[in-house]
Amino acid sequence: MADKNDKDEGTVKGAFYVDTECIGCGMCAETAPDNFRMNDGGDLAIVFKQPENVDERNVCEEAKDACPAEAIGDDGE
Ligand code: SF4
Repeated sequence: MADKNDKDEGTVKGAFYVDTECIGCGMCAETAPDNFRMNDGGDLAIVFKQPENVDERNVCEEAKDACPAEAIGDDGE
């Protein structure tokens, strides 16, 4: 389970975040490209924009549920 106290640097403030357990597989950036992207080094994902509507929230939830490292949380701030 993702830990909001261990957020990846670069994730914007809000509910969704990536923690440092991310293994850089890229799945979330493909699933929810309006909200997740890989960092400049390409090794960790970040949330660059929080979901702004139901559709975006749904794909963010989908990415969270499918993350192989359980590195995505939705209880951040
Ligand atoms: S799906 Fe999970 S492990 Fe893969 S890049 Fe996204 S946060 Fe990292």
